Amino acid sequence: MSTETQAQYQFIDKIIQHHLGENTEVNDREFFYGGNFNLAVRVQLQNKQEYFIKWNQGDHQGFFEAESKNLTLIGTTSSISVPAVIGTGHMEDKEYLMMECIPSGEKAANYWVDFGEKLARLHKNSSAKGHGLDYTNYIGAAPQINSWNQDGIAFFIEHRLRNQLARAIYDRKIDAALEAKFESLFEKLPSLLPNEKSALLHGDLWSGNVMTNPDGFVTLVDPACYFGFREAELAFTTMFGGFEEGFYEAYHANFPIEKGFHERIPLYNLYPLLVHVNLFGEGYLPAVKKIVDSY
Ligand code: ADP
Repeated sequence: MSTETQAQYQFIDKIIQHHLGENTEVNDREFFYGGNFNLAVRVQLQNKQEYFIKWNQGDHQGFFEAESKNLTLIGTTSSISVPAVIGTGHMEDKEYLMMECIPSGEKAANYWVDFGEKLARLHKNSSAKGHGLDYTNYIGAAPQINSWNQDGIAFFIEHRLRNQLARAIYDRKIDAALEAKFESLFEKLPSLLPNEKSALLHGDLWSGNVMTNPDGFVTLVDPACYFGFREAELAFTTMFGGFEEGFYEAYHANFPIEKGFHERIPLYNLYPLLVHVNLFGEGYLPAVKKIVDSY
């Protein structure tokens, strides 16, 4: 075993023993090296109990503390399944999150309908404070500022679009001409979007964050939650595809949205697209420009 692997094993054992007791013995470890900056491992103990641990170099301050709060917030609504948090903290120079492990199951016949109903139930949680959240969290590696605002459109412009736009301008990925087009779009947004009541969102709802648990139903991982426009969440699900028709039908039957949603999808998806420009590069700019130009 290389010294690096040995160090990783010891690091994981330390986390396990910190949370479950000195004498806890690890039986097996399966590492995941995603494209992201986080590392992850599925740990099996001698007693066959399994846990899932994610960690990073600690260079994204408060990353897992926020993810832990996100999971707990969604979990307390009892609307849709998320992994239970065991603990979060610093170990050596790293930040980590230890949670329940969700083994993958086979989809039940009514998986998508059940998922649509559960997401509608999650979205029925609103906040009297309006749109936002009590803490800053992350979407992917990008900080997500969630300062409360009673006006959903103002929140969407300020803390979703303009915040990402500012970073892209700073990094010289977006020029003055495109910035001006964004500014004129911001003026039009109040007449283009319904100013919905805030809804608790998962916030990063693409197929990579949707698991099938051993019961055959949905468990969501990796939330970037906040109280915001539920239409933005539904729009997000269309970005990389993979959600079946039964999901949308069940959602709409349980929590109808205003007419004309399909025309609004590109506007909501400007947010994840700008995040992608900032995190992954200018390959996503043509899609951004196309949307901005069409308004
Ligand atoms: P990242 O923050 O690096 O994107 P994710 O939380 O999205 O990591 O996890 C990456 C993958 O690991 C997920 O797509 C899922 O397959 C798996 N995963 C995440 N959380 C768990 C868990 N609690 N139990 C089992 N597998 C998990």
